[in-house]
Amino acid sequence: MLFSGPAASEAVSFPSRAERFIAANRFDQPTLVLDTDVVAERFRALQAGLGDAAIHYAVKANPERAVVERLLAEGSNFDAASRGEIELCLSLGARPAQISFGNTVKRASDIAFAHAAGVRLFAADAEEELEKIAEHAPGAEVYIRLLVDNPAADWPLSRKFGCAPDAAIRLMDMARALGLVPVGLSFHVGSQTRKAAMWTGVLDDVAAVWHAARAAGHDLSLINIGGGFPAFYGEVVEAPAIYAAQVRAQVAARFPGARIMAEPGRGMVAEAGAIACEVMLVSKKHDTDMHRWVYLDIGKFSGLAETIDEAIRYQFATPRDGDPAGPCVLAGPSCDSADVLYEQRPVLLPLTLKAGDRVVIRNAGAYTSSYSSVGFNGFPPLEVLVL
Ligand SMILES: *Cc1c(COP(=O)(O)O)cnc(C)c1O
Repeated sequence: MLFSGPAASEAVSFPSRAERFIAANRFDQPTLVLDTDVVAERFRALQAGLGDAAIHYAVKANPERAVVERLLAEGSNFDAASRGEIELCLSLGARPAQISFGNTVKRASDIAFAHAAGVRLFAADAEEELEKIAEHAPGAEVYIRLLVDNPAADWPLSRKFGCAPDAAIRLMDMARALGLVPVGLSFHVGSQTRKAAMWTGVLDDVAAVWHAARAAGHDLSLINIGGGFPAFYGEVVEAPAIYAAQVRAQVAARFPGARIMAEPGRGMVAEAGAIACEVMLVSKKHDTDMHRWVYLDIGKFSGLAETIDEAIRYQFATPRDGDPAGPCVLAGPSCDSADVLYEQRPVLLPLTLKAGDRVVIRNAGAYTSSYSSVGFNGFPPLEVLVL
């Protein structure tokens, strides 16, 4: 049973190649099956829409080697959050100039490592961070990350990162005084921002800071528009090339002549993967209970962290789709009562579903394996298999 509205024209059609592979094979643990052809297609669509903007894939969305390799072959750049991600990209052949160090909270020794490796572009949103960069990567280019507010995103990234608009110019002044080169601004509109029109208010806010900084004597040249490019989770999203072109047009209108950089994560990899998992138990708490509980062998601590607050709503497919369906509370397998995936908005699944049945989680290539690195409660972290 699916929650699909009409798919955007370029969305993956179902069953995808990953899903067909899942249908033809057995798995003894939850497994993310990745189709890197879809990653390559998605890169090309986003690049077509973004024109001459530089794409830096946000590695954290899915750090699988085959994904990075494929994107490297397509000509992508990379945004890394740590020494580990930088080493991954370098080890697969990325040149240091293709890597930005975009985390605003960096370990000093990681900055030094990046600098020694030849990485030249760093993010900052605070004075101490600029001091660390000036000490360990003297002369580096920095962009200042702004705090923006976009309640429309499904997975907002506000609050934790970025400085207030009125602090940005002060940070640029400080960067210059420390011998760094403040080249521009960055922001993140919020992950899974479903429509390009939802960028407008944020872009207006960032443009105001940009023009104020230029008026204050900072010769800014780089606008880093971050991620936010959506994936199809059942609600209509615009096709990637169209969405990207609309975002680009809005950016170009507000930042004339600027070099544009984008950091898609989810939009690049989500639709390239499907998870094979299975039903462990179907039960009712008492005879008159309205709701079934369906327990899967994958949960919040083994790949589905983005179900926190039911923010990201995955689509599920089962071999019994077509049988009469009813609502259920969907839960993960671990002995932690927080490991409930969907309860506020129950999920419709076939009434015939039972323990042992295969369940496919569609478009699950982003922020699943990367959030699943520890085998909490003895349930192994998500296995990844590349087609
Ligand atoms: C996570 C992250 C991204 C990717 O965001 P998506 O919404 O997945 O595209 C981009 N830039 C930065 C700095 C990030 O932390």
